[in-house]
Amino acid sequence: MAKYQSINPYTNETFASYDNPTASQIEDSINLAHALYQKWRHEEPESRCKTLHQIATAFREHEQEMAEIMTREMGKMIGESKGEVELCASICYYYADHGPEMLKPQPIESKLGKAYYLKQATGVIMACEPWNFPLYQVIRVFAPNFIVGNPILLKHAHNVPGSAAMTAKIIKQAGAPEGSLINLYPSYDQLDDIIADPRVQGVALTGSERGGSSVAENAGKNLKKSTMELGGNDAFIVLDDADPQVLKKALSTARTYNDGQVCTSSKRIIAVKTRYDEVLHELKNSFAALKPGDPLDPATTLPPMNSANAKDKLTKQVDEAVKAGAKVFYQYPEIDSAGAFFRPIILTNVDKQNPAYDQEFFGPVAIVYEVEDEDEAIALANDSSYGLGSSVISADVKHAQEVAAQIETGMTVINGTWISSGELPFGGIKKSGYGRELSELGMMAFVNEHLVISMPTE
Ligand code: NAP
Repeated sequence: MAKYQSINPYTNETFASYDNPTASQIEDSINLAHALYQKWRHEEPESRCKTLHQIATAFREHEQEMAEIMTREMGKMIGESKGEVELCASICYYYADHGPEMLKPQPIESKLGKAYYLKQATGVIMACEPWNFPLYQVIRVFAPNFIVGNPILLKHAHNVPGSAAMTAKIIKQAGAPEGSLINLYPSYDQLDDIIADPRVQGVALTGSERGGSSVAENAGKNLKKSTMELGGNDAFIVLDDADPQVLKKALSTARTYNDGQVCTSSKRIIAVKTRYDEVLHELKNSFAALKPGDPLDPATTLPPMNSANAKDKLTKQVDEAVKAGAKVFYQYPEIDSAGAFFRPIILTNVDKQNPAYDQEFFGPVAIVYEVEDEDEAIALANDSSYGLGSSVISADVKHAQEVAAQIETGMTVINGTWISSGELPFGGIKKSGYGRELSELGMMAFVNEHLVISMPTE
């Protein structure tokens, strides 16, 4: 894509468009960011904490305008947009408060001499981000790297350019030095050139397998470190002893939060046979209760998808799944609107031959599987190209932890669904990508672990 336009998916109105940068704008941006990296190298991480606090506070102060632009560009419900801004403020506070401690030198026991490694900045990082959490995806990379001392160049998704601009503006106005985060609207070819530039030392991408493999290939070709946060097909395992109220609450948002457009949405609901009917019933009730409308209206509970293209793609995937034998257990009634509304749907009877079995459905589509027992549930959960997140619903938390340990994913939430916070690592395995964002693990993504060892002199 990379044709940057703001199109309201509720009204179909195109309200802004943005040009690609010129070659000299790109050169100036890389220069500016690189110069900042060189300055930051001589400063302690503590020196940036105050500014990151100010940035966190600024996001809180600008919550309404930041939330509104996100909602207008990609259709997220306004309440969820505000929640996203607050989450991002909390992530900034987290790294401002805890980041420097994580960057202290690490002593190493060695018979060869006094050894330790420093945790140092590496340079400018290119961040390629998706539209589904226009602010959060950026802050996941920006906040830790700001404390580390790695400036960020941002290439946001083609459909949220206004959110990208506002993010950069708020960060700048809060007092961040020029070059801390530079928002660009590059074409794919320009992005390739930026990644190849020797002053750029790493690439963080969150997005699809398609985008990830292309950008990772280019990073690899240029020997640039990368982190890839890609798609998911998360299993939501319902065990025999699941607490009915916990199950009901988790199911109520499992497939409709952010209109199902979350990498860690519970895309495969796997219920042991004793709980299968109850799961279908609860899901149907939660889908049927949704109220479509303008996502800027706080009364709306079913927003449009992020774009008409996304709706068309999802519709095609569902049609193909049904053609291959999936049964429609429930679909939300027709919605009288020109907006990009997808009617939430529950599919069953998806077998291994069905293309839907191993595909990510990025929207409000729940695929529900009935299994004999827990072992079959775990085997089905692991029979996936993806390995991002998972959920286990069980009244016996210790046992659920044992089940979690058998699931091949980067994250498991017990008795809940998608969750994120500054201190919790986020990321997956298999085709869901590699590396982690957030937490101490994420903070080290683009750190130089610089060994220093003093040899005995006698
Ligand atoms: P996408 O198409 O891969 O886009 C992500 C970013 O990469 C955008 O900035 C996009 O730019 C850019 N991009 C895509 N193809 C590219 C290419 N060939 N060369 C250079 N840049 C390229 O992903 P999406 O469909 O917007 O986002 C949804 C996907 O993200 C889902 O699969 C979801 O599961 C995943 N996701 C993962 C996580 C996680 O943490 N694991 C979190 C959120 C979302 P353009 O917009 O200009 O194409």
